[in-house]
Amino acid sequence: MKQLVLQYLKLFLLLGLSGVTTEHVPKYDVLASLGTLPLDGHFSFHDLPAAARDFGNLSSFPPVAVLHPGSVADIARTVRHVFLMGEHSTLTVAARGHGHSLYGQSQAAGGIVIRMESLQSVKMQVHPGASPYVDASGGELWINVLKKTLKYGLAPKSWTDYLHLTVGGTLSNAGVSGQTFRHGPQISNVNELEIVTGRGDIITCSPEQNNDLFHAALGGLGQFGIITRARIALEPAPQMVRWIRVLYLDFVSFTEDQEMLISAEKTFDYIEGFVSINRTGILNNWRSSFNPQDPERASQFETDRKVLFCLEMTKNFNPEEADIMEQEVHALLSQLRYTPASLFHTDVTYMEFLDRVHSSEIKLRAKGLWEVPHPWLNLIVPRSTVHTFAKQVFGKILEDNNNGPILLYPVNKSRWDNRTSVVIPNEEVFYLVGFLHSAIGPHSIKRTLNLNNQIIEFSNKASIGVRQYLPNYTTEPEWKAHYGARWDAFQQRKNTYDPLAILAPGQRIFQKTPASLPL
Ligand code: FAD
Repeated sequence: MKQLVLQYLKLFLLLGLSGVTTEHVPKYDVLASLGTLPLDGHFSFHDLPAAARDFGNLSSFPPVAVLHPGSVADIARTVRHVFLMGEHSTLTVAARGHGHSLYGQSQAAGGIVIRMESLQSVKMQVHPGASPYVDASGGELWINVLKKTLKYGLAPKSWTDYLHLTVGGTLSNAGVSGQTFRHGPQISNVNELEIVTGRGDIITCSPEQNNDLFHAALGGLGQFGIITRARIALEPAPQMVRWIRVLYLDFVSFTEDQEMLISAEKTFDYIEGFVSINRTGILNNWRSSFNPQDPERASQFETDRKVLFCLEMTKNFNPEEADIMEQEVHALLSQLRYTPASLFHTDVTYMEFLDRVHSSEIKLRAKGLWEVPHPWLNLIVPRSTVHTFAKQVFGKILEDNNNGPILLYPVNKSRWDNRTSVVIPNEEVFYLVGFLHSAIGPHSIKRTLNLNNQIIEFSNKASIGVRQYLPNYTTEPEWKAHYGARWDAFQQRKNTYDPLAILAPGQRIFQKTPASLPL
């Protein structure tokens, strides 16, 4: 208890001296009451600045305590404790995965941050068999899920591009990548969840049991409960991957080919794409890890154009089936209209392919370019308006700007479950578009946020019908517009599972006091 008092005084001084508003600092007795909770893990107070940082590097809202849960019961006890304080307490609780949010979504200003990676009591267990699955902790990194399941020759079906994200974090959004066109997002590949609700109840849910909570939590931005365990569907894992990149000079043939590939029965296993603006020597950059199909033509290819479109695909194979893979790839490529000189490919292990962004992370970290601000903008664009969107955004708004990769690839709506909380357009095919900016140098944050605003403003004016993925809104009208006709149901679910609006305050959808009113 003495230690807690000292920590509290230190915190008070820290917040006062640093100029951070102290209005969120709860009364001493509130903080001290945390010390009375019987826990398998512990609260800490020295790591508050770390819990107020995220990948976006644009927001910092220090909590008053960090819980390192030793068990699911620790999480339930803590949330229940805050729930019992009632609606006049300002204390909130945020589950923090790997803190890879962009605008403070996993932070809790003056509240409690639960470090989900500390939850080691939920042991990962692979269940092979006819319908294989893995049970994993909500705080587990996907890279660890992959490593474990590969030992059984199995792997999850649907991925994100980067695997150093947590199971609970991506399932609270959707989890999308080049497998989404076929398997749906990660939230379409979950059989069961264990959740601690905003009342501190521990509930197991699935499509058959407590199904409303199950669907609410998937893509639910952490609003309805803390995912402590997820049961994830698996499939046999290939050993190798043929990884292919080709370039297009025009958007129409690029997207027509993408759409043809995602609707074909026999097709690639991963289909993505990206847009390159004002980048020189793109093929030369590829040479460090890819081989040109025709080295001579590739060396003559003029890539110094303003806008290029890259289609990226993979075909899975095991070494003994390499010949069949070659034939299938050849047949598929022969249907595409890319620039022939730009065909590059390489063969890598399944692990190397899935963990590919981590290799870039290591290089960027070495140059000090990983922990820079990331004013990302992720959008979902309906197929019917993607051409109007592209013309204005790539041709005009971003004409002279090149702050990082721009992803653009279509997915099939039929693979998404409309009972989940994630918001998608009402069209059979829609595009995932990610502007993955890094803000480097003076004024870069302001300039990039301004570009993001221009993209959003244009989309609104031209009725493009975009939705934000990993949404970042601050006002109630924005959230209402985001959820559209589903807003009432979303609010209703909030009232059911987290009536005091304790959970995930960093999403800025609901405010805890005086009651669970929207912001
Ligand atoms: P956090 O950022 O810590 O949390 C995200 C939100 O979920 C917060 O509101 C938090 O309170 C809540 N939360 C966290 N854990 C739980 C839990 N167990 N239960 C309930 N709520 C919880 N996304 C894609 O879909 N596809 C991609 O290809 C992709 N690539 C990425 C690449 C990089 C380099 C980065 C930084 C992010 C990428 N993302 C991608 C985005 C990623 O899905 C989000 O950042 C997401 O927030 C997951 O990160 P996290 O596990 O660190 O969760």
